[in-house]
Amino acid sequence: MADSPQAVANIGVIGLAVMGSNLARNLASREGNTVAVYNRSPERTRTLIAEHPEAGFVASEDIDDFVASLQKPRTAIIMVQAGRGTDAVIEQLTERFEPGDIIVDGGNALFTDTIRREQTVKATGVHFVGAGISGGEEGALKGPSIMPGGSAESYATLGPILSSIAAVAEGEPCVTHVGTDGAGHFVKMIHNGIEYADMQLIAEAYDLLRNVAGFTPAEIAEIFAEWNRGELESYLIEITAEVLRQVDARTGAPLVDVILDEAGSKGTGVWTVQNALDLGVPVSGIAEAVFARSLSSHRAQREAATALPGPSATVSIEDRDAFVEDVRLALYASKIVAYSQGFDAIREGATKYGWSIDEGAISKIWRGGCIIRAQFLNRIADAYAEQPGLEALLTAPYFTEAIAASQESWRRVVVLAAQAGIPAPAFSSSLSYYDGLRAERLPAALVQGQRDFFGAHTYKRVDVDGVFHTLWSGDRSEIETTPSSH
Ligand code: NAP
Repeated sequence: MADSPQAVANIGVIGLAVMGSNLARNLASREGNTVAVYNRSPERTRTLIAEHPEAGFVASEDIDDFVASLQKPRTAIIMVQAGRGTDAVIEQLTERFEPGDIIVDGGNALFTDTIRREQTVKATGVHFVGAGISGGEEGALKGPSIMPGGSAESYATLGPILSSIAAVAEGEPCVTHVGTDGAGHFVKMIHNGIEYADMQLIAEAYDLLRNVAGFTPAEIAEIFAEWNRGELESYLIEITAEVLRQVDARTGAPLVDVILDEAGSKGTGVWTVQNALDLGVPVSGIAEAVFARSLSSHRAQREAATALPGPSATVSIEDRDAFVEDVRLALYASKIVAYSQGFDAIREGATKYGWSIDEGAISKIWRGGCIIRAQFLNRIADAYAEQPGLEALLTAPYFTEAIAASQESWRRVVVLAAQAGIPAPAFSSSLSYYDGLRAERLPAALVQGQRDFFGAHTYKRVDVDGVFHTLWSGDRSEIETTPSSH
């Protein structure tokens, strides 16, 4: 069918709250785009077009007019509230779109919802693309990191449009076709999980510098600013220095001292951990970060626990410069573990859900536009380029060397934290994970023995093939048996 006479827009945006408005403005500012806009409540649409006449939006107050304003294949990006709002808009569009048209959900959907939605929409011949969009409102306006899933066919149309609005890192747009159906939203979820771990590690470094070495927030801001000139260079380290420098106008105290110490969350870290548990992937750094936020918010328990004893001896630091360097290296090593675990989750997710995901390409599109943007991601891209199918990021030569250079510092910091009674859950769990991974023998052998004792769950032996059980309540002889299903 030919386009209707009023079909003038090559892309449309539905949902004009902060994210949708900014994304629409970003699209309109790029050469060659004419952007159709629509919002359920027309006031938002009117405000947007009144405030941004330069964008040349094609605005509709009726969904049928919006659909008619799109050239074929019609392509519309939904930026509405995740959940039921998204389902409602998908239904409206599916009823009006034709085979070959493309519906993009740019909201923060759970990837399993995206898989379900793609199945339903695909049956009508319309393409459905779940696209993770990272970078918040500023990213949406100036260039986000975009993680689209969906069919390769839809990406042929969508790719150039998304490339035109994405952040650019070292000359490359921060967008890639991640994989089919829910792959984009899955990778966005892992991105957010890694972001939780990164933030928690930085917070632990701050806590140790403050409460073990006695630096002031302003001094720690300078330390972070210095770290931002080296291998830890990243957006999160940069903004941490800014936050620590900030002085509260009301009290004159460092702002960090007047902010209530209860960390909130929107739930994507929890999704990451829940899904990693289902996939059987240890993402201990991310999990500790999620738990640390929840612990912080248990105010009544924390108040009840203030009388619990801490260490009797105080820890004193003789060489503060050496301690700062130890903390920097502990942060770097723990960060490597967190990313390694995140990429493990991507690999396992890809296997389970049948996606072909290029880990190197993912690390590259996170270099710009998103919260975890960092120099470090280039090293990850290099590692996957040198060794496609790399078993664990930690084992890539660059990272092995980095950890070799930092592990003694890392151990000292974890010991000092324990001695000083300063919580460092992500530092210490990352070190335990690292030691677990490299251990020749794990006490898992004993766990299997216990399982066999109380539940006849059987065990394998190191010396002969087969599955065995000891007759614990009998004469304690060993029998060969069939594998336990438990
Ligand atoms: P939001 O507050 O999540 O949602 C408000 C928008 O959803 C409004 O346009 C609202 O329309 C629309 N909406 C809600 N229910 C609807 C329904 N049943 N039918 C039609 N429209 C409906 O907006 P946002 O903060 O701009 O975020 C948009 C999406 O981007 C969300 O999925 C969010 O999770 C994701 N996201 C947000 C950020 C961020 O930093 N804010 C970052 C990344 C991703 P009305 O005006 O008519 O109420």
